Amino acid sequence: REAVSPEAGSDEQQAERALRPRVLGDFVGQERVREQLSLVLHSAQRRGSAPDHVLMSGPPGLGKTTLAMIIASELGSPLRISSGPAIERSGDLAAVLSTLQEGEVLFLDEIHRMARPAEEMLYVAMEDFRVDVMVGKGPGATAIPLDIAPFTLVGATTRAGLLPAPLRDRFGFTAQMDFYDDEELERILHRSAGLLGAPMDADAAAEIARRSRGTPRIANRLLRRVRDYAEVRGDGTLTLGTARSALDLYEVDASGLDRLDRAVLDSLMSKFRGGPVGLSTLAVSVGEEPETVEAVAEPFLVRSGFVARTPRGRVATPMAWDHMGRTPPPDAAF
Ligand code: ATP
Repeated sequence: REAVSPEAGSDEQQAERALRPRVLGDFVGQERVREQLSLVLHSAQRRGSAPDHVLMSGPPGLGKTTLAMIIASELGSPLRISSGPAIERSGDLAAVLSTLQEGEVLFLDEIHRMARPAEEMLYVAMEDFRVDVMVGKGPGATAIPLDIAPFTLVGATTRAGLLPAPLRDRFGFTAQMDFYDDEELERILHRSAGLLGAPMDADAAAEIARRSRGTPRIANRLLRRVRDYAEVRGDGTLTLGTARSALDLYEVDASGLDRLDRAVLDSLMSKFRGGPVGLSTLAVSVGEEPETVEAVAEPFLVRSGFVARTPRGRVATPMAWDHMGRTPPPDAAF
């Protein structure tokens, strides 16, 4: 397949963009976060000033980027997108901050991964709308203060606890994003299927929702796989049968566990007798970064009751042994 243009991104990214809700009213679920945001946005609009900085925390794929886009569009403001890992030096951040327009929304994804000196620059920018540009090196270095346009920072992180307190305290509030329940995911799926022009039965939506790990991004991705399957092997309608066959083919099991989740459980059971084992040891045993296991696999495994966190490490629950079709050793830790 030919790429349309370098900026367009992959087919998958394009598809994801097309399914993004554009206004708060189309954003499904997260009632509390929606209410908090709508209050902050409306009061800022009344006062005619930029709203407080907002921190969003929660596992990936729950709609943080989408909400940042919605905030900007509800305010009628431009949006600038960057991320913690992209800001390696404070100069990178100064370049972004000094070119913001008045009222612009700056979205910083993975804000906990920003370099330390940049973090300090950000404190001042958030509070006083000022950056101190360092000129020269060593004892002769001078800080030249530079005023910047008032802006709204929207930070995203997988866990608010990963941020240093001085940074966390400079946000007006933290929107805690939670996993979605099946009914909400079904609504998202019906909306997406409508946008894709794919007819879908209600029980197909329910089946996809059940296997989506409480995550809209996964729901939309599975929907596209089921749609592909229905188009090639069926008459294009997404039925319960096509949903099941397609999801089995892509190794998404009946509880929504994917390859990484199963690898984590498998390793926990076969190499560590079900635990307890420390997260980093467990991550190494499946060949992943501890951060990936902690941010991507673990929240869902814990929430669904497959893994328990104990002071001595992670433990596989009886439900996990059962789900993986294994018998726990007689001295298992749970
Ligand atoms: P990350 O933290 O990895 O950036 P994210 O939390 O920012 O992930 P998004 O990219 O905003 O996630 O959302 C992923 C996809 O899920 C989007 O394509 C969007 O269409 C869909 N989506 C997310 N939340 C909702 C929602 N509440 N209603 C409808 N669709 C949603």
